[in-house]
Amino acid sequence: MLALTLLAAPLSAQGRSIARDYRAAADSLIRAATRDSAAYRRLGELVDRFGYRLAGSPSLEAAIDWILAEMRKDGLSNVQGEPVMVTHWVRGQESVDLVSPRRAPLRMLGLGGSVGTPAEGITARVLVVSSFDELDRRRAEARGRIVLFDAPFTDYGETRRYRTDGAVAAARAGAVASLIRSVAPFSIRSPHTGRVSYQPEVANIPAAALSNEDAMMLHRMQDRGDSVVVTLKMQARQLPDAQSRNVVAEVVGRVAPEEVVVLGGHIDSWDVGQGAMDDGGGSVAAWEAVRLIHKLGLRPRRTIRVVLWTNEENGVEGGQGYLERHRDDLTKHVMAMESDGGVFSPRGVLVAGTAPAVEVVRQVGQLLRPIGADRVTKVDSSPEADIEPMVTLGVPGIGLDVDGTRYFWYHHSDGDTLDKLDPAEMGRCVALMAVMAYVIADLPDRLPS
Ligand SMILES: [Zn+2]
Repeated sequence: MLALTLLAAPLSAQGRSIARDYRAAADSLIRAATRDSAAYRRLGELVDRFGYRLAGSPSLEAAIDWILAEMRKDGLSNVQGEPVMVTHWVRGQESVDLVSPRRAPLRMLGLGGSVGTPAEGITARVLVVSSFDELDRRRAEARGRIVLFDAPFTDYGETRRYRTDGAVAAARAGAVASLIRSVAPFSIRSPHTGRVSYQPEVANIPAAALSNEDAMMLHRMQDRGDSVVVTLKMQARQLPDAQSRNVVAEVVGRVAPEEVVVLGGHIDSWDVGQGAMDDGGGSVAAWEAVRLIHKLGLRPRRTIRVVLWTNEENGVEGGQGYLERHRDDLTKHVMAMESDGGVFSPRGVLVAGTAPAVEVVRQVGQLLRPIGADRVTKVDSSPEADIEPMVTLGVPGIGLDVDGTRYFWYHHSDGDTLDKLDPAEMGRCVALMAVMAYVIADLPDRLPS
């Protein structure tokens, strides 16, 4: 009992000192981030000027050029684009037409990375299954058919497997193409894209998502005993890898500038909607957090670096490229934080790190109580994809814990546009990122790793 008390005492003393030493700075950051809609307006300018930002596209590189120029105008230091080679996949024209039991166009989106079809398309009977297990049971029926996985949304991690692994499973069963019900819990007949995986020893067959409504209709037709036939046409193709960049800018530390706190989002998006939610919002929130730290003249002990990673969606090449470039100074990375769950109302953070690191983050989180974002939850693996290469090697990782109710309604669809976000909610995400980054960069003792 005594030993426990002695162990606990320094932590609460540290907690008291964090609360005491950083209350004023935290409050001024929260005020600056929530008093107007600056972040939301900047996000609007980004997505309205440049639209979606697919890896390899001119619009992604034009957006990066504009951000670099704006960051220099903001007065941030060491603003640069760090070169990264990225996958360059293009969609081209595409369609799914129902041929039998009646003729009708269906709503679809090809999956990122998919191969195309021959020019005349693929016309075949459809085998609708609800799961991988059902495909296994009906394997004999799949040969020469187009398999449609009509799997209802449960949670993203589980349902996403049909998008990533469906084409391989269907090809193994002898199918000529793979369709899925979109990975979304709610639909107004809007298809959702996302990356498909292939395996070298398995035939690469075309893969696309149908709107939930269309997938369910084909399933009902099959259940009635109709022969369901569709024609799938996709011009999708892979071009040679393209040059892109991770955007990097800093507020340089005043005591230990070589030690770095990283925060960011991914600047690329799928080629639908505006990529406002995924992940223009996270990118601009991190950028705005660092701009406010600079503008308020808060110069922390260590360096704060905003990183807008390129090509998360089609291969996490920006996150991997950042690690390769900074591998030698990885031990100088104190913490890495990313927002890629939509800048919705924040409740707190998810932390991957040791118990002592999580405890310090919990103390810092108390400073976010005024905006109701003080919840700190320990997680076992990286909370976001672009920081995962660093987190896997031991850098403490932080993700935003936001109200994700609506995220998958819009995710990877034409509905991912600015209006789905709220300026006040985004402002609270900016406040959270600014307070976390500034305080962790300024603590007298480095965050334990
Ligand atoms: Zn994302």
